[in-house]
Amino acid sequence: MQIVKFKGLISLISVFPGIIYITNSYFLQNDSIIDLVIALTISIIIAFIAKECAYRISGAQELRDLTVLEKGKNLLKVEDLKVFYPLVGGIFRRQIGVIKAVNGISFEIKTGETLGLVGESGCGKTTAALAILGLVEKNDGDILFHNKTLPISYSRFIRQKIQIVYQDPDASLNPRLRVFDIIAEPLIDLLGIIKKDELRKRVLQLMREVALKREHMDRYPHEFSGGQKQRIVIARALATNPELIILDEPTSALDVSVQAQILNLLKKLQKNYGYGYLFITHNLAAVNHIADRIAVMYLGQIVEIGDTDQVFLKPSHPYTQALLASRSEVDMKNRDIKFIIQGEVPNLIDPPTGCAFHPRCSSDVRTKECEFDLPHKIKIEKGHYIWCINPPKQ
Ligand code: SF4
Repeated sequence: MQIVKFKGLISLISVFPGIIYITNSYFLQNDSIIDLVIALTISIIIAFIAKECAYRISGAQELRDLTVLEKGKNLLKVEDLKVFYPLVGGIFRRQIGVIKAVNGISFEIKTGETLGLVGESGCGKTTAALAILGLVEKNDGDILFHNKTLPISYSRFIRQKIQIVYQDPDASLNPRLRVFDIIAEPLIDLLGIIKKDELRKRVLQLMREVALKREHMDRYPHEFSGGQKQRIVIARALATNPELIILDEPTSALDVSVQAQILNLLKKLQKNYGYGYLFITHNLAAVNHIADRIAVMYLGQIVEIGDTDQVFLKPSHPYTQALLASRSEVDMKNRDIKFIIQGEVPNLIDPPTGCAFHPRCSSDVRTKECEFDLPHKIKIEKGHYIWCINPPKQ
């Protein structure tokens, strides 16, 4: 990170000799305009070479290359994160309340690890991801990246290091750009690579990482299948040498046969480079396949967290039990997947008192207190916790 802070300084120092040379020729010597143009051209070349040398000597160049992260290091820590949206109403469009989209969630992701965030539509998974990306403002809580609190306004470096892959590759890809231009865009904008041959070399390397071929480079998105388009999106996300990748339903728009290929590709990339993944999904089979740990969300809160095996083999919160026992079906209207669990999802504008799940909870351990008291953290075993009022029956 230190190198990035000094990138501006490196550039400034490296162009300094060129500026001195031009100033000197202009003010102190009585050169002709041709001499001045020659001097200007030479000084630009010197400045460019000096800048490249400074980048290489300082190690800033390494930021442009795909690096292998040491696994098991602290990458992302979310502490008591709250994101509330104002509820506006009335003739004067005044704020009449708040929608608690994310209400005090905490989790960690280490390098080389995948945390699956699961829950029904509208439970706050995507809002949490947007807050981590700095795209929505948090009301409270902390988001730490490499043990440092992320600033309110993200630097270019953070934007490089945290990337997102969305559900629908068609919406993520500009249909008028060739694959080369799509993948080269972040290399130019965020890493400052401008030389055409270097760009082609790097784009080709990224395409190989996601199993695309050289001949695909000059084609347009409409010439590819859904799975190939998602590979292009992943290659573009890798271009900035990220450390944390948020995968927001990356396979749900794809055929079942292609889903497994994309999940395997993501696993291979993580194994090779040590990326941390936040995998947001409705797809329980996918999360079981890819995640090391799972956090289950309900109405803006995490209700259960644990290792994937702990959550799948010993689901302990009544909501997780209902989720795993439920059928899911595709809602054709908004292309979303719905879990068929008894009762309606409560309205976030007027959530239930006490435990938010109490109107739908059919657990044997449910008591009258569930309607008034707030759930607390209960340890099931090491690394496995639920938020409930009553411990589960053994
Ligand atoms: S707190 Fe009560 S209502 Fe809520 S999940 Fe636990 S048992 Fe069910």
